[in-house]
Amino acid sequence: MVIDFYSILPLTCAIFVASFGLFILVKDLRSRMNQLLFGFSMSMFFWMFGTFMMFATRGDLAASVFWDRFVYAGVVFMPPFMHHFSLLFTKKIGKQKFLLFLNYFLAFVFLFASRTEYFVDGLYYYSWGVHTQARILHHLFLAWFFWGTGLFFVNMMNFYRKSADALAKLQTKYVFVAFGCVIFVGGSAYLFAYGIDTKFPFSYVSGLVFPIMLFYTVSRHHLLNTKVITTEVLVGLTEFLLVMQIFFSKSAFDIFVRVVFSLIVALIGVLLIQSVRREIKRREEVASLAFSLEKANIRLKELDQQKTEFLSIASHQLRTPLTVLKGYVELVMDGAYGKPTAGIRKVMGDIDTSNEHLVKLIDEFLDISRIEQGRAKYNFVGADMVKIVGGIVNELQEKAKAKKLRLTWDPDGVKEKICVDEEKIRHVIFNFVDNAIKYSDKGAIQVLLERDDGGLTVRVRDSGIGFGKIDEASFFQKFYRGENVKAKNVTGTGLGLYVCRKFIEAHGGRIWAASQGLGAGSEFGFWVPNKRKPEAPGLNPQNVNVSCGVGR
Ligand code: ADP
Repeated sequence: MVIDFYSILPLTCAIFVASFGLFILVKDLRSRMNQLLFGFSMSMFFWMFGTFMMFATRGDLAASVFWDRFVYAGVVFMPPFMHHFSLLFTKKIGKQKFLLFLNYFLAFVFLFASRTEYFVDGLYYYSWGVHTQARILHHLFLAWFFWGTGLFFVNMMNFYRKSADALAKLQTKYVFVAFGCVIFVGGSAYLFAYGIDTKFPFSYVSGLVFPIMLFYTVSRHHLLNTKVITTEVLVGLTEFLLVMQIFFSKSAFDIFVRVVFSLIVALIGVLLIQSVRREIKRREEVASLAFSLEKANIRLKELDQQKTEFLSIASHQLRTPLTVLKGYVELVMDGAYGKPTAGIRKVMGDIDTSNEHLVKLIDEFLDISRIEQGRAKYNFVGADMVKIVGGIVNELQEKAKAKKLRLTWDPDGVKEKICVDEEKIRHVIFNFVDNAIKYSDKGAIQVLLERDDGGLTVRVRDSGIGFGKIDEASFFQKFYRGENVKAKNVTGTGLGLYVCRKFIEAHGGRIWAASQGLGAGSEFGFWVPNKRKPEAPGLNPQNVNVSCGVGR
């Protein structure tokens, strides 16, 4: 037996490729793809192990020839296995039935042929080893070998060209290279059968590259399983090397130490694999939970969308009759149907108040559905804030007086115009002041304007019911009504401030509520920038009209 670097190299490759094959098979015994990969690895094992034996027995011609024929007993199955694999991989298993059958059939034909002296016979002697000499049937075998394996490459290339899935494309590429390496690098071993010396048997290296490439393919694209696989392989390899070392021990003590060491490593290895498995399981659970949550979220969004659409349609339908009603009330009050008595005036006044209340509610619904459907229109103009606030204060003065509240305001020297949607800003300030009146029973309400370098602040301060910490963060949520109003008999929907927030956000501004506590009054305020922010949330560029420009 000649044991040197040249014979150890194919032996190492043989062990490597056989371990890979077994590993793949054990992963899923019933998978046809895994069975084929195992079969192909075994073909390579025959090739490499036979080569090792052929080199090792190079002093004995008959033995070397025997072991080279052993090589061919594996190699003849490479073409059908590869062809078969390509059909499975590209999901064309029903196709090329005849060609596949022919490939398997010829493999058996050449298996028998390789047993005869018409296939290989005699030896070529090289500086690094020996090889049998090709005979007539070997030429035929070679032609078939490259045709048979060529079918694999053609199928894979067609699949690669037609596939639209980037992941499938990438996998095809790696599998293509892995097998290509075996056939084109490994195939150079045939040169030795024709007396051509490539100086160094590079071909066997393909036995190492092939599993590594395939592992790489799996590991890049199925990350979760691969962590376990990689750990198992590493632990297995380490353990394998440690056990091998036992055979090279020089003394009983040496054997003892190495056995104990490999047992400890085996134990740690098992624990490691278990912990990786557990981690993967947990991650998979989290991934599956995240998936369910995402699905639920999509469903909720759909429902929310449907609700918004319903709201929009219903509100439009309700708004029209209310407008008609308002018109009739005005006609009756104006005496169009005869002079109204005091009683009729009182009833008409009540109808008008309720009507106003309903109109406000429906307008809020409409605002919300417009906001949520991205249909809210913004018309940015150079707005005169003093005029806007002055107008609101005048409008609500009567209402404040009716509750004996003092409503004042301070423009604080603000004169410049500001680039905002006048109507929306008016809506927000109106809401603040209206709420301040609604939620105050005594004292004063103050509207303050403040100018700073970046923009303008509006504050509405009152000495009303105030609120505690619990409410502070939630006032601007949809349908939220504070704890502070729970005990009071004040009607409301909890929608007004939500709409205000959306309007201010669309200006790229900030909105807030502050209070020292229940009964201590409150401040509702907002800040909007001087310069329009085109990227502000909720702004749909199609619905934005600008006549004051960015940066004014
Ligand atoms: P609504 O007034 O219809 O309930 P809003 O969205 O306008 O809805 O207000 C939400 C909540 O904010 C109110 O229910 C109330 O709890 C609180 N709130 C609003 N303005 C004031 C204020 N000036 N003082 C105290 N609490 C207020």
